[in-house]
Amino acid sequence: MENATKWIWMDGEFIPWENAKIHVISHALHYGSGVFEGTRFYETANGSAIFRLKDHTKRLFYSASAINLPIHFSEEEVSKATLETVKRNEVKSGYIRPLAFFGEGKMGLRPEGATPRLIIACWPWGKYLADRPIRVKISKYIRIHPKSLISDAKVTGHYVNSILAVQEVLPQGYDEAMLLDFEGNIAEGPGENFFLVKDGELHTPLLGTILPGITRSTIIQLAEDMGIKTRERVIRPEEIWEADEAFYTGTAAEVTSIGEVDDKKIQDGNEGPITKKLREAYFELVSGRNEKYKDWVTEV
Ligand code: PMP
Repeated sequence: MENATKWIWMDGEFIPWENAKIHVISHALHYGSGVFEGTRFYETANGSAIFRLKDHTKRLFYSASAINLPIHFSEEEVSKATLETVKRNEVKSGYIRPLAFFGEGKMGLRPEGATPRLIIACWPWGKYLADRPIRVKISKYIRIHPKSLISDAKVTGHYVNSILAVQEVLPQGYDEAMLLDFEGNIAEGPGENFFLVKDGELHTPLLGTILPGITRSTIIQLAEDMGIKTRERVIRPEEIWEADEAFYTGTAAEVTSIGEVDDKKIQDGNEGPITKKLREAYFELVSGRNEKYKDWVTEV
């Protein structure tokens, strides 16, 4: 990706995109000792606005604490820098990538002593997954075990798990992968949380082996507002094909209907009415048209 925008915020100052470089002897490049966020901003009636900025910043700090990575800025300063990054780049809608990592100064597994770095970039980004019900395949790779890694933290090294799943199923012609947990229950997508609809209720895997998605919590809230109950529980893969509807959620993926899994359709394979209703409510919310959640929409 070349010069998608002009400026990258790096450790407190704006650097031109082409000069925002690091040394090859950076700890995170060798060992995956970084943490990141993926945040979206949308056009609203009052200009661009970042969706759930505070919550993304909070999760970035949680992820950093999980690997003992210091961030030499406060949460408020990072949120402010995120807003400035979007403003300065004059992009109306798109994606923001805050990334904190252990940089230079130390090799070997113990990262303490390597300089902590923090960057914030943004760029225009349209749909991550297709604009139609997607074809999903259950990967042969299982989601990282919560006792091997801190699976609710967004650590760069964890994403080799997602990369393997995607590299496995995309060349086979599927749109996205699905990962089971170590007990064979549904965990999540490589970058999305999973929901199914059954008898007018939502069902989604419990927290524990998954990333606690900010879109996931948004959808649970929107469903509650519509009088739709969400059951967080263990979900077996066989339940997918008995479901009335299924979808993925994520900052990048937003709300994406799942039409089939492992070549077997869910009902007729089309987007179901509850998925559609939630998807529309989600876009209404992120574009600042839901008064109840004004606090989740931070104007640039
Ligand atoms: N699971 C994984 C593994 C992810 O990487 C993401 C994307 N951050 C999600 C779920 C969805 O999380 P969110 O809704 O906060 O983007």
